[in-house]
Amino acid sequence: MVTTHNLGFPRIGAKRELKFAQEHYWKGQSSRDELKSLGAQLRQRHWENQSGLDQVPVGDFSFYDQVLDTSFMLGNIPERVRGFEGDALDNYFRVARGRSAHDSACSCGVQAGEMTKWFDTNYHYIVPEFSASAEFSLDASRLLDQLTQARALGVKAKPVIIGPVTYLWLGKAKDDSDKLALLPRLLPVYAALLEQLAAQGVEWVQIDEPALVTELEPAWQHAFVTAYDALKTTRVKLLLATYFGELRDNLALACGLPVHGLHVDAINGRSEIEPVVARLPADKILSLGVINGRNIWKTDLSAVLEWLTPIHQALQARLWIAPSCSLLHVPVDLNSEQKLDHEIRSWLAFALQKLDELKVIAKALNDGRESVQAALAENQAAIQSRRTSPRVHNPAVKAAIAKIDAALGRRTSAYPQRAARQSALLNLPAYPTTTIGSFPQTAEIRQARSQFKSGELDEAGYKTVMQHEIARSVQEQEALGLDVLVHGEAERNDMVEYFGEQLDGYAFSQFGWVQSYGSRCVKPPILFGDISRPKAMTVEWIRYAQSQTAKPMKGMLTGPVTILNWSFVRDDQPRSVSCYQLALAIREEVLDLENAGVRVIQIDEAALREGLPLRKSQWNDYLQWAVESFRITANGVQDETQIHTHMCYSEFNDIIASIADMDADVITIETSRSDMELLDAFDHFNYPNEIGPGVYDIHSPNIPSQEHIVNLMRKAAERIPAERLWVNPDCGLKTRAWEEVIPALKNMVAAAKTLRAGI
Ligand code: GLN
Ligand code: ZN
Repeated sequence: MVTTHNLGFPRIGAKRELKFAQEHYWKGQSSRDELKSLGAQLRQRHWENQSGLDQVPVGDFSFYDQVLDTSFMLGNIPERVRGFEGDALDNYFRVARGRSAHDSACSCGVQAGEMTKWFDTNYHYIVPEFSASAEFSLDASRLLDQLTQARALGVKAKPVIIGPVTYLWLGKAKDDSDKLALLPRLLPVYAALLEQLAAQGVEWVQIDEPALVTELEPAWQHAFVTAYDALKTTRVKLLLATYFGELRDNLALACGLPVHGLHVDAINGRSEIEPVVARLPADKILSLGVINGRNIWKTDLSAVLEWLTPIHQALQARLWIAPSCSLLHVPVDLNSEQKLDHEIRSWLAFALQKLDELKVIAKALNDGRESVQAALAENQAAIQSRRTSPRVHNPAVKAAIAKIDAALGRRTSAYPQRAARQSALLNLPAYPTTTIGSFPQTAEIRQARSQFKSGELDEAGYKTVMQHEIARSVQEQEALGLDVLVHGEAERNDMVEYFGEQLDGYAFSQFGWVQSYGSRCVKPPILFGDISRPKAMTVEWIRYAQSQTAKPMKGMLTGPVTILNWSFVRDDQPRSVSCYQLALAIREEVLDLENAGVRVIQIDEAALREGLPLRKSQWNDYLQWAVESFRITANGVQDETQIHTHMCYSEFNDIIASIADMDADVITIETSRSDMELLDAFDHFNYPNEIGPGVYDIHSPNIPSQEHIVNLMRKAAERIPAERLWVNPDCGLKTRAWEEVIPALKNMVAAAKTLRAGI
């Protein structure tokens, strides 16, 4: 019999219940007990959802982030939050977001932990902080409580933890010490944790080590040997889980570790399954991730059975099957979707449907394909329909792609000439100030949007409310004295969905939310077919915003790479082809904005970095088509038109040459949380154009002081000539409230004035 299991389940709830509960609690509108009990309800529901499986994950639920949970479990808590009294959950939120629910009245906000992307997904985790003197101590209460709850409900519980090597790998040594030196101190804590689980009668523990799919230095490879050698006497059985890619150089290492089982990603590492089967010692179980845990397409079940059946015959009961990775990265339930086009819907599977697929595969293996004939036939019909549908294939788009050449991505003049023309036209002061695009999404905006959706408000009424909001943003910015204004993006629900909705080749779910970080969720649009732009998408709004001010107004677009990386993308053609299609569509919008007299156009590539393959050896290929796509989008404009781009991260060093290659006139980036770390990049690389290092951490409700901003900018000015510096927040302000934004931007504008006075 084949065993079915799951690596992790989306925790936010099919209706984003967790998000709303978190936010209520943070605002002081509900009690900690209410939040905790909602958590318990969600866990129960999700275990019920997974009840047909042989093993169900426990410990994958989190009130913010599973990596931060691990830091607390291991006693690795930043110095700055030690000594706070009260509930551990509040301290946890202090690290997560700079303050807890009970801090709003006092000034005990602290610096929030740094966030970064979880491997190559759009999930962000809180980076563990290390130093040479770090000590660890076990507090497994959170995991044990969840286990107790699961047990009481009769759940076939398999605790899930992040393994010690990946945990170190994910973190950052603040004092630049060697993280690996901490391993000997960490391992006894893991051993004690496993012992506590064994004492609870746990049989299997899933220990996630996805660092194994990255390129590891020999010292890191060796750390796996040390770690699992130290843990091999544990009384629980360890299922070592890797996912998101191929093992390659680490394949022999992973197969040889002294654990009871290995889970590998058979979607991204399909070609490695045979060698893994061949190498795996006969006493180990092999878990194969046969359903894609990262996308929303139906699995071709017959195709999977084709290659899986002989493996099952060879391994028999040693074969387990699961999704490739945690289902955290997909929405919960396709059955909630009432508005999705019928045909497109028939091509999709969300978390619950993926678990159904898994069960069909298991039944086919255990009881023969005849036992699931109807399910297999229905699946085949859906796969066929998607393959041949005329809605997927548009010959005109394919022809335009074939005609792309290098000239399409080249500006007329080099940056110095362009800069001179732009400065003559825009006439900006030194250290010009701007924001990244969005202003707070107020209750009025959200209400109008939902009324418009439900038909309560007609289009004209909706437009009036949005224009009112845009006018308000403009007035606020003028009062603040900002130099280059934005319209505030009131009309946009989401920076990708907004464009996807207006492009052909996209479909939308109503409830297809996935967690991005903390309480933030995104609803990635579904790129299912060839992309084209039927008509202008933003011109009217920007024109209206410009009519409200004499200052320059930025046109605001999302770039092709970001649209691609934040969508669920079709898997029937290379990602590069879908990206070029998007590039041609957004290029048309750029040119329409320019024709409408817009002098500054920002094309956000917030997600360019997160599309990087996990292995450096594959970076060049990605960067080549990603940068070329941006260039096609942006570089058809006149010299006088100033192109901005924006990126949401500060790890710049390793891709700065590619970013320079995009040739945007101005780039704004996130840096405030990492203390201008990006500046390291400028030691070795002379970035040629203008740059705005973010000086206001918009992920935290804390207000940066004028002095703090001046200090950050002075650091920047040590490496980048002042005449090429801009002053701006880290990112858009849509998640903040006006009461936070106004004082923060006041300080920012005042800081810019101080800096100008010092020139
Ligand atoms: N222009 C977008 C905004 O301001 C950019 C958001 C982002 O970079 N994630 O909201
Ligand atoms: Zn951003």
